[in-house]
Amino acid sequence: MPIVNRIAEFHDEMTAWRRDIHAHPETAFEEKRTSDIVAGKLAEWGIEVHRGLATTGVVGVLDGRGEGNGRIIGLRADLDALHIHELNEFDYRSRNEGKMHACGHDGHTTMLLGAAKYLAETRNFSGRVCFIFQPAEENEGGAGVMIEDGLFEKFPVDSVYGLHNMPGSAVGKIGMRAGPAMASFDIFEITVTGKGSHAAMPHQGHDPVVAASQIVTALQTIASRRVDPMESLVVSVTQFHAGDTWNVIPNQAVLRGTMRCFKPEVRDYVEAEIKHIGDSICGAHRATMEYRYERRYPALVNSERETEVAASIAAQIVGEENVRTDEPAFMGSEDFAYMLEKKPGCYIWLGNGAEGGPGGCSYHNPLYDFNDDISVLGASYWAKLVETTMPRAG
Ligand SMILES: [Zn+2]
Ligand SMILES: [Zn+2]
Repeated sequence: MPIVNRIAEFHDEMTAWRRDIHAHPETAFEEKRTSDIVAGKLAEWGIEVHRGLATTGVVGVLDGRGEGNGRIIGLRADLDALHIHELNEFDYRSRNEGKMHACGHDGHTTMLLGAAKYLAETRNFSGRVCFIFQPAEENEGGAGVMIEDGLFEKFPVDSVYGLHNMPGSAVGKIGMRAGPAMASFDIFEITVTGKGSHAAMPHQGHDPVVAASQIVTALQTIASRRVDPMESLVVSVTQFHAGDTWNVIPNQAVLRGTMRCFKPEVRDYVEAEIKHIGDSICGAHRATMEYRYERRYPALVNSERETEVAASIAAQIVGEENVRTDEPAFMGSEDFAYMLEKKPGCYIWLGNGAEGGPGGCSYHNPLYDFNDDISVLGASYWAKLVETTMPRAG
């Protein structure tokens, strides 16, 4: 495999960084130690360091040696861990009780650091690279916060790229798809207020439990009967809270759930349709509804041209036969989507190991571990992406 040989030379060093980060996991916006390490290494290699965006974000800026063509590329990694009690027993397991790198962000940070070290040493490109290390990918949308804090005003990149390891996919495989690749992620809350009564005399009240139950059932028709069957979406009610005892019909019932889809127009439609269904059913039962709908992560949409670029770079590293450009989209969400809303770019999936073998354990599992064997591939991808898209003239 035509990996970057110089990067392969410091593979052991990368493994040591990765395991050190793995042993000291930090969660959303508290990635203090991790960002200190990142900032320290970037500075040591002569890369200009900017800190403070989204509290613990770090951006490294490096110019090539070539005649500047004014182009700026953004490469992004995520720093954060999860609230999971690690069950692995190797010596670099989590030292921070209840926290764990179970999504491989320790590896993502390491691979981008590896590329930064190499590119700082060689600077065999023109233009400028921004190494973006973002906090809080899990749940808290750190990418969105960095953007709100002025990421793209301070670092006006022309395009931005991201990657995630993919357990269950063999080492040396890379996947991607142009267009929508991961779903948007929203949450909703429906509060149904009826009129409580003695359970033996239901006719004296307006039962919110019955109304809310019918809402749960009717919401199933959004995906099955209201949106074009060719679209993908999920409306899931995941919480139903009502009542405190056996013989009282409560005053209120609360439903909560999540909605996932790929297209803004479907998102708008479903947001309104949940309200329409809830209001109509409440009306029929002489109850009232309060509705809260919160948009969290947008859908992750890769731009055509940058996906082609990513595919050609991936092919340089692992061979064309190991690059899949029609990887199926899925309903999971990823906050790199915020960056792709603002800038063209591409997010790829890098095989972490086939199922049943090393690196094959699914993420967010207490036995997951990033596979250090893929670090050189990921770092080489980053390095070639810079050198190929912004070549030195002459
Ligand atoms: Zn995750
Ligand atoms: Zn992740």
